[in-house]
Amino acid sequence: MARSKEPPILKLPLLSGRALAVLYLSALFLPLALAALRQVAPLDPWELAGAGAGLVLLSAIAVQFVTSGRFGPVTGRLGIDKIMAFHKIAAWWVLLGLVLHPVLYVLPTLLDDPELGMRRLIAYCVLPQYRSGVIALAALAILVISSAVRERLPLPYEAWRASHLVLAILVAGAGLHHALTAGRFSALDPVNSLWWVVAGALVGVIGILYGWRWLWLHLNPWRLHSVTRLADRTWELDMQPGHKTPDLTYEAGQFVWMTVGSRRFPLFDHPFSIADIPSRQGISLIIKEAGDFTSTVGTLAPGTPIGIDGPYGEFTLDNHPGKAVLLVAGGAGIGPIIGLLRELVARKDPRPVRLAYAVGKPSNLACLDEIEAAKAVLDFEAMLVSEAAAEGFAGEVGRLDQPRLARLLLGLDPKETVAMMCGPGPMVVAVSDMLLDHGLPMERVVYERFDYAAGSASRQDRKRFAQFMAVGAAVMAGIAGFVVVLA
Ligand SMILES: Cc1cc2nc3c(=O)[nH]c(=O)nc-3n(C[C@H](O)[C@H](O)[C@H](O)COP(=O)(O)OP(=O)(O)OC[C@H]3O[C@@H](n4cnc5c(N)ncnc54)[C@H](O)[C@@H]3O)c2cc1C
Repeated sequence: MARSKEPPILKLPLLSGRALAVLYLSALFLPLALAALRQVAPLDPWELAGAGAGLVLLSAIAVQFVTSGRFGPVTGRLGIDKIMAFHKIAAWWVLLGLVLHPVLYVLPTLLDDPELGMRRLIAYCVLPQYRSGVIALAALAILVISSAVRERLPLPYEAWRASHLVLAILVAGAGLHHALTAGRFSALDPVNSLWWVVAGALVGVIGILYGWRWLWLHLNPWRLHSVTRLADRTWELDMQPGHKTPDLTYEAGQFVWMTVGSRRFPLFDHPFSIADIPSRQGISLIIKEAGDFTSTVGTLAPGTPIGIDGPYGEFTLDNHPGKAVLLVAGGAGIGPIIGLLRELVARKDPRPVRLAYAVGKPSNLACLDEIEAAKAVLDFEAMLVSEAAAEGFAGEVGRLDQPRLARLLLGLDPKETVAMMCGPGPMVVAVSDMLLDHGLPMERVVYERFDYAAGSASRQDRKRFAQFMAVGAAVMAGIAGFVVVLA
């Protein structure tokens, strides 16, 4: 059955990290620039720093809503891995800055007369006119700390996510109220108007994320067509658009948010990579049982209503060019990787393509026939690696290590090879570093993890962290500049 796809979404170019940093800093400095246009009662430099920090941080809180991984235009520019890493780091510096915000106002007093300074600080915490600020700070502290220790909380993921949303709305709402009722610069236009615009934008963002999306998923239902067991606790779900639902326009390697049954509210959705190619109608997902939801997918009956929201992400062949392609899959990471391999086969891509596919035990290996068949179409070699041995398994036993990678990459120019990798965090970290040692340039080692939780960091993660810290330093420099200009 042929069916037209949705009209192609406007394909925006990937923005460099530098361009995104400039955009981020511009958003944060906008209230400072507007505040500098107006005269307020004279403030000492520390009070100015406190006020400047408050303005910048309120803007940073608003930006956190669009770096939450739910906005296609943002994840599509930077990738879910990087955007979530930034979201988490920015949350910490916003918390730190908000703790300092009242302290800066009383710092000279604290240094001169610690007892009086403490009394002033306590007054800020208890006086009714500052209550919304205290609520915003308390909610932010709970939000950031509960996210950092999420894996150890006795809460289902959905409950944590609901609390994250409620707390985020509380932080932004109380923060805006505090600025509008207690802020000296925010009392005056144009900063006052800016905060109303920001409040309206946030209502719009939340409305799109949780209202419009919910409605859209109801109006455009998908159906489960079939469920196939591919390997141990691993299933391939074929989903087709409903009667009037447009087919999905996507690129191989992207991901969708999926809901099952009539529970379409975005709190119940789960991200899964598309294991398919755009030229086929519908989409297929390869899902490994990992917890409450994924353990049920093997029992879903054909015809089950499905909600598909997407596509998201930038993990695609066209976004990451190279003269040779190395695909690396670990466990369930085979989902997007097989999607990329299927796409390379469909395009009859002339470039050398290598695949390293690592699992815990051979019974976890999926799509082996398809991997074998790719050899007939592509300049293609595959290395199967299993930590455990098993009778009849002819692949490598152990981990995907440096010698094995070197063997797989033999004859390819590392500088011109792009590596596309998806798998568990520790494997991605280890293999990413090995590929750099092998001579691949950092920008050509591209990966997507299936888990946002903090874990060990690759050299690339550490470099990214340093870049994010440089953005944080630029924010502080901006506040210092504000003080110098107005003092
Ligand atoms: C971009 C991306 C693409 C993914 N693609 C695939 C794929 O192709 N195949 C596959 O098998 N798995 C994939 N995953 C992982 C998959 O989303 C989780 O395994 C699944 O959501 C777990 O849900 P659960 O209720 O079964 O397990 P739970 O026990 O509830 O969760 C296990 C862990 O999965 C994560 N998780 C759970 N629910 C969500 C959620 N709604 N949103 C984000 N993270 C969540 C949390 O870190 C949690 O600790 C992908 C994840 C991401 C971020």
